[in-house]
Amino acid sequence: MIVLLYPNRCPVCDRMLRDTLICPDCFGRLRYVSEPMCYSCGKPVADAQQEYCMDCVRKKHEFRQGHAVFLYEGPMREILYRYKYANRRDYTEFLAMQAARCYGAWAKRLKIDLVVPIPLSAKRLRTRGYNQADLLGKRFAELCGLTYCNKILVRVRNTVPQKELSVQERKIILKMLLK
Ligand SMILES: [Zn+2]
Ligand SMILES: [Zn+2]
Repeated sequence: MIVLLYPNRCPVCDRMLRDTLICPDCFGRLRYVSEPMCYSCGKPVADAQQEYCMDCVRKKHEFRQGHAVFLYEGPMREILYRYKYANRRDYTEFLAMQAARCYGAWAKRLKIDLVVPIPLSAKRLRTRGYNQADLLGKRFAELCGLTYCNKILVRVRNTVPQKELSVQERKIILKMLLK
């Protein structure tokens, strides 16, 4: 019955699906981030000899290591836009499965204590109704057998959506939040 109430829809073309989370053709249009990648932020780099991307050579981040599953281009941009802003919470399963498949073993190897989502401000959570990072983090943790907690970080002030901020502004805000 659950299948009837919440049919899977392809996150790219929105067609109804029965046993898969994405059409094989649409899946073929997404591109994984692959080696060689930056040791710090996980972005692709041109040459395997290059340990860090130019961004990471130039500046220090507030995180130790990052990884991305897909390149942020083409249909993936639209998927993530709808996941964040158009109530497509149903994409959680597909995205979390992909993250777990690509980086579940890595996350376990690091003996991560907790999976923690970056919270939304209370105001934005009210208007949007959900925090996609919360949904994704929770399902990722479940799939990887990791402990999950969404009560550790609290956003103390409302910020402009990140896409409207420069890297420098994002860093300043993150620093303020971590104080
Ligand atoms: Zn499709
Ligand atoms: Zn980098």
